[in-house]
Amino acid sequence: MVLSHAASDSDISVHSTFASRYVRTSLPRFRMPENSIPKEAAYQIINDELMLDGNPRLNLASFVTTWMEPECDKLIMASINKNYVDMDEYPVTTELQNRCVNMIAHLFNAPLGETETAVGVGTVGSSEAIMLAGLAFKRKWQNKRRAEGKPFDKPNIVTGANVQVCWEKFARYFEVELKEVKLREGYYVMDPEQAVEMVDENTICVAAILGSTLNGEFEDVKLLNDLLVLKKKETGLDVPIHVDAASGGFIAPFIYPELEWDFRLPQVKSINVSGHKYGLVYAGIGWVVWRNKEDLPDELIFHINYLGADQPTFTLNFSKGSSQVIAQYYQLIRLGHEGYRNVMENCRENMIVLREGLEKTGRFNIVSKDEGIPLVAFSLKDNSSHTEFEISEMLRRYGWIVPAYTMPANAEHITVLRVVIREDFSRTLAERLVMDIEKVMHELDVLPSRVIHKISLGELKSEDNGDNMVVTVKKSDIEKPKEINVKKKTDKPVFC
Ligand SMILES: *Cc1c(COP(=O)(O)O)cnc(C)c1O
Repeated sequence: MVLSHAASDSDISVHSTFASRYVRTSLPRFRMPENSIPKEAAYQIINDELMLDGNPRLNLASFVTTWMEPECDKLIMASINKNYVDMDEYPVTTELQNRCVNMIAHLFNAPLGETETAVGVGTVGSSEAIMLAGLAFKRKWQNKRRAEGKPFDKPNIVTGANVQVCWEKFARYFEVELKEVKLREGYYVMDPEQAVEMVDENTICVAAILGSTLNGEFEDVKLLNDLLVLKKKETGLDVPIHVDAASGGFIAPFIYPELEWDFRLPQVKSINVSGHKYGLVYAGIGWVVWRNKEDLPDELIFHINYLGADQPTFTLNFSKGSSQVIAQYYQLIRLGHEGYRNVMENCRENMIVLREGLEKTGRFNIVSKDEGIPLVAFSLKDNSSHTEFEISEMLRRYGWIVPAYTMPANAEHITVLRVVIREDFSRTLAERLVMDIEKVMHELDVLPSRVIHKISLGELKSEDNGDNMVVTVKKSDIEKPKEINVKKKTDKPVFC
């Protein structure tokens, strides 16, 4: 997304590496060129520029799939010109979508009779899925309040402060107050007891996360369900649950089948999952399923007939590609329960290799849990000398993309690094990463001594101001001398 840009001279044109072979003039950067260029030149220019992107396979920041089998890539390319919304024209694609919805609904234990079909839809991702699920809750709540003659202008939703940004978007775009249960040090998911205390007559739903984005931990949906059932008995307030299973929806059914988090719990009315995370499809596919037809108000469904026969739709967008739906269907039938279980178990084993490697260094606290999304979230035991952000930055030099971030309220003082283990992250890579983290730690350990060295060379001037050592960088090419506070410690002064 481009919000604004300030054009400088260097911004104006895009040069091609092979300019003299293909084109002699540069292309304007922000304006459409007047003339055409040969297709080979266009390809070369774009391909050359894209080389500077990170390597998706080494992007350990993301849950989103970066590898699929070549057979599936072939199916994707073959369907790239089909619009998913042309259901009458591409009835087979629509049929495959419906099969996926039903398979996923069964995976989540939807209470469907033998001849019943599931209620759900394919989306661009979990964000769109969550907007749709949220709208259904809001409308159902409004209808109920209206029927009771009560005000229906102040809907709210209860979540943990650890929710993904799409919930904040839902709240702001669709005017629902977001009531967040705050976190605390050492506890980084929604506390079900506090959540249920925050519920009132205006609560449209409580959103629980199966696999917190921050540390992969599963929230206790069963306890939340039981507490809400109890509240219903005591007060008559009947508040539904939505489970945001963006990443956990394709993990829990395969490696934690006993865990009750889905439609086995009566208060759970809808669930979303990202097909492009552990559903193992490239970016651009999510799913939302409802427990019953009654949980999706009829008036939200549009019936269109201008593409052919009557087609019900409930999506935010109209046109979109159908490749991702086809790719999801490929994965479901290609892998089956057995294949998904193998992939998820393998991810979990590689997560353990990485976690144990990090524990062995003795430098980190592990913030992720044994049960949850296969990821390792960790923070420095001693961050008085260096921060997690510095580690993240230095790992980039080795090609690794490992994000560092601070926790939300009220645990903002905790910073973590997070490595997401995907199918294509092998054990060899896990071991290599531990070695590179060790190298980075070593580099950081010797960094303060370089500062001392520079002080002794006279490149830096140090001054004791009581609490801190103030080091002034004397460099003629920076206009203002830069002051770096160096904490006074017993043996070695350090950056802070
Ligand atoms: C990734 C994620 C989302 C957003 O999903 P998209 O598929 O990227 O739109 C929402 N919630 C959770 C818990 C997530 O991990």
